[in-house]
Amino acid sequence: MRELTEVAPGVLVATAVQYTTTSTVVVGAGGSCLVVDPAVTVAEVTGLADELARRNLRPVAGWATHAHWDHILWCAELGDVPRYSTHRGVNLAQRERAGLVEEVSSAASGHDLELFGRLTALEGNRIPWDGPAAMLVEHDAHEIGHGAIFLPETGTLLAGDMLSDLEIPLLSPGDPDPVGRYRAGLELLAALDLVRTVVPGHGHVGDAIEFRRRVDADRRYLDKLESGDRESDDERIGSGWLVSEHERQFSMLHG
Ligand SMILES: [Zn+2]
Repeated sequence: MRELTEVAPGVLVATAVQYTTTSTVVVGAGGSCLVVDPAVTVAEVTGLADELARRNLRPVAGWATHAHWDHILWCAELGDVPRYSTHRGVNLAQRERAGLVEEVSSAASGHDLELFGRLTALEGNRIPWDGPAAMLVEHDAHEIGHGAIFLPETGTLLAGDMLSDLEIPLLSPGDPDPVGRYRAGLELLAALDLVRTVVPGHGHVGDAIEFRRRVDADRRYLDKLESGDRESDDERIGSGWLVSEHERQFSMLHG
């Protein structure tokens, strides 16, 4: 069973051990629910399905925020329902399938590969289901076709791999203008003026003040990175894997 925390009315979040990855469940009418980014290990994803069954919640749709292996997982127990993502996210997951399968096989082995990354392109900018309005905010920060979901009724932003308290902005490696595109995506999220709760794909849930603090922290990181100053004072870098991520991003921009 997974522990689910209600972070806003009808919005439940489970947090996985690996990379502090979050999965979000939005509760709809009559026991239906929308499942966003179920993650990470087989035990965690099936545990989420078990917990939903225990609560008499029935998934009717899924959402994958972007085409990275840890966001396109699923299990049979979650049901045979449409798992939406953006058009470009779906295309990317298909194009990069071999590499994604390799990544999931080494990082979280044992998933049913028939279900892995089987996504449906969303038509329009709203997930079709009978629950609270779930609006798409699409951009190319972090990865092409990244789709955050905003729930206007509760002011909840499911940010995907953005606005983390633990991770610096992680740029898309193949992008000719990674910082410009990251900024454009970040400003789209920053322009949402009714955010009361932010759920990052990795890290901890924050309130409205924390949302603004993270937007500012991400802007500052990008400013410093672009300025050519190799030493970042971003507190999130610490001493682990983000040190090398920061180095890689600096080299990508400045050689
Ligand atoms: Zn990602």
